[in-house]
Amino acid sequence: MRALAKTRPQPGSIEEIVVAEPETGVGQVLIEVAAGGLCGTDLAIRRWDDDIAAEYAPDFPHVLGHEFVGRSVALGSGVEGFEVGGLVVVNPHINCGRCYYCNLGRHALCLERRIMGCHIAGGLTERIAVPADNIFPLPGHTDALAAALIEPLTVAAHAVLERVPLAAGDTVLVMGAGPVGLLHLLVARAAGAAEVIVAGVAADAARLELAQKLGAVAVDQQAEDLQAAVRRVAPRGADVAYDASGHEAALQPALAALRRGGRLGMVGYCHAAAPFHSLPLALDEKEIFGCRAYYRDTWLRSTALAAGMTAELRQLVTHVLPYAEVERAFEMLEQRQCMKVVLTPEID
Ligand SMILES: [Zn+2]
Ligand SMILES: [Zn+2]
Repeated sequence: MRALAKTRPQPGSIEEIVVAEPETGVGQVLIEVAAGGLCGTDLAIRRWDDDIAAEYAPDFPHVLGHEFVGRSVALGSGVEGFEVGGLVVVNPHINCGRCYYCNLGRHALCLERRIMGCHIAGGLTERIAVPADNIFPLPGHTDALAAALIEPLTVAAHAVLERVPLAAGDTVLVMGAGPVGLLHLLVARAAGAAEVIVAGVAADAARLELAQKLGAVAVDQQAEDLQAAVRRVAPRGADVAYDASGHEAALQPALAALRRGGRLGMVGYCHAAAPFHSLPLALDEKEIFGCRAYYRDTWLRSTALAAGMTAELRQLVTHVLPYAEVERAFEMLEQRQCMKVVLTPEID
């Protein structure tokens, strides 16, 4: 069967290859993959950044894909209570379940966490066997392409509903107009935010237009002063902000845009040092929270949320490509000429 894999530990080297059919082990479910999204993590794996290489250290060839959905087609022994044939989404994180952090229920902090598509083989392939505990069934009418966004939606749900929860009526600032930024917009609106400001840069023009269509006040920070734009919407400043850009230049303006006592969730992974003035943190009692991926139970919230926002999620999928066009997909991602690019083994 076909799979998209990184074939060598060096920049580039992502190809469509032929791999062996998976065996469905004890406690596992065999999934026939319908669609899988690409994101910044896949871009970093393609570039083979030093920190990514050190953290994931996969075997080669390494099958990519941590954002995928498909149909359950067979059950391994010991798996009960699953109806074969339904659409399911897969939590790609495998946690040890025994360490201090797993026992706290904070699975993203697991000391032995392995992620499908990162540390171990992922879902950009025709079939994959995954632990039954990692599967979340979706309603029968679910659109598979919209469902390919549930993994990053779960990241947004963790930040907006769990780590830095907002209150109905809050004004929210989201730094970053990529898919994760717009998913924060959708979750914030679902949680009752009165206004959501999405801040991007000139290169994000199409993305900001979509943000506006989805109900945001969109701000191009290169054309408009972000602080003035936020104060026009919320004179005191934003109640809550989320950084979904992962850019070192986002921290200071996000903090400055908060009202006194406002809270900032750091969601995007920024590998550079980010300068900021700490005095307002003391004087204004502002707070910064780290947000890493999601916990197991976050998936219960995100799958429920997704059921009510299929049309919006589907709008974020701007390109559906066959595996043969994976290079084109990465180029579009690199150039920000897309929102979410989804690859599917079903077209060729
Ligand atoms: Zn991702
Ligand atoms: Zn653990």
